[in-house]
Amino acid sequence: MSSFNPERQENKIEGKIVVALERISEAFRVLLWNESKSNALSPIQVQILIFLLFHSGEKCKVSYLAAEFNMTKATISDSVKVLFLKKLIKKTGDELDTRSFTISLTAEGKKIAEQASFFTASIEKPIGRLSDEQKKAMLDGLLKLIYELNRAGVINIQRMCFTCANYQFDKGTHYCKLLQTTLAGGRLRIDCPEHEFIS
Ligand code: SF4
Repeated sequence: MSSFNPERQENKIEGKIVVALERISEAFRVLLWNESKSNALSPIQVQILIFLLFHSGEKCKVSYLAAEFNMTKATISDSVKVLFLKKLIKKTGDELDTRSFTISLTAEGKKIAEQASFFTASIEKPIGRLSDEQKKAMLDGLLKLIYELNRAGVINIQRMCFTCANYQFDKGTHYCKLLQTTLAGGRLRIDCPEHEFIS
């Protein structure tokens, strides 16, 4: 029975959680759309600008962005072309070879990315009102869900502890070998700059 069937939701908490996540994804969609409209950009163009603002150069390439956003390289290239024409990004390296050029923000692109990066503020606000225990339980559940979706091939690149070569789980404790620290109490990372893929 489908999660969207209210009968299933009555009998299975999983169904309610799926529908709740669908509502949250709708909130993201609406907020991102509003932010895009106010900058005369498309949602993916705004997502690219925000990604460039917070990630290092080796990740700021068309192929990486395509994997990050689960889109084709052609779709990302189209968005990159528009952002380039609007002078919001610049390219360094071989402009003829999409695999080798690196994209970075211009001063104007940085300004828009900084402001747009707050588009989720109205989602973060109510999360802030949850108890610490609720927040930790929510983070724990979401990380496990994202990990399973990644393993199942539904979503691509994840820079989280569970997919990192430096992650260890021993006797009920999460541990980072690189940072030499335990990752308890909400310290597991979802988008870690030091993440290393397991070879
Ligand atoms: S390097 Fe980052 S992603 Fe990897 S285990 Fe440490 S904190 Fe987690």
